[in-house]
Amino acid sequence: MVEEQLRARGIHDPHLLRIMAAMPRHLFMDKALEARAYSDHALPIGAEQTISQPFMVALMTQTLDLTGEEKVLEIGTGSGYQTAILAELADRVFTIERIPPIATAARERLTAMGYSNIVYRTADGSLGWREMAPFDRILITAGAPRVPEFVAEQLREGGVAVLPVGTNQQQALVKIVRTKEGVRKKVLTGCTFVPLIGRGGWETRKPAP
Ligand code: SAH
Repeated sequence: MVEEQLRARGIHDPHLLRIMAAMPRHLFMDKALEARAYSDHALPIGAEQTISQPFMVALMTQTLDLTGEEKVLEIGTGSGYQTAILAELADRVFTIERIPPIATAARERLTAMGYSNIVYRTADGSLGWREMAPFDRILITAGAPRVPEFVAEQLREGGVAVLPVGTNQQQALVKIVRTKEGVRKKVLTGCTFVPLIGRGGWETRKPAP
């Protein structure tokens, strides 16, 4: 996985490659999928959600340029795989998941693995986590129609955010840097994530009566 999917495609941060080589990705999914755990794909984790493709996890993490000192906000805990990698590379991770059984499973898994620098919340994360802001880094692993407003508000000056922005089917992976003057935005690549559902993302609409 590390050689063919990550290093060959431009992931070069040695610390990140070491962490991803050591991370037991098969523990973040159902037993029935374990044989495909290190394949080049996103995989289902229940409730129509997915564990992201290893390359996408690596690219987003490398873009955050972590030194070990950072306070990171992650929206979309999902399986907790990305959360574990952030917990290895940053100081503290604040992670939000909106689907309760998915949030509980991730929390139990990460606690059993011994992580103690992760703070969990089950809620709509499309508004961020105001009480805990500002953050040095923000990572959103679900696609929004536009950059949610909280990103610029809750990112520290000099901070970096990475998130997918686009339609329900197809998004651009966007890097945001908060500067003194405002925010700088750069598109990194195309990508496909499940939708960010909530007040700062895609609203769920009740069917017409
Ligand atoms: N990084 C995760 C990706 C999981 S998929 C992994 O690799 O396992 C994206 C997750 O975002 C899903 O679990 C989904 O329920 C969650 N999500 C979607 N909208 C959300 C919101 N508004 N707040 C918090 N989590 C959200």
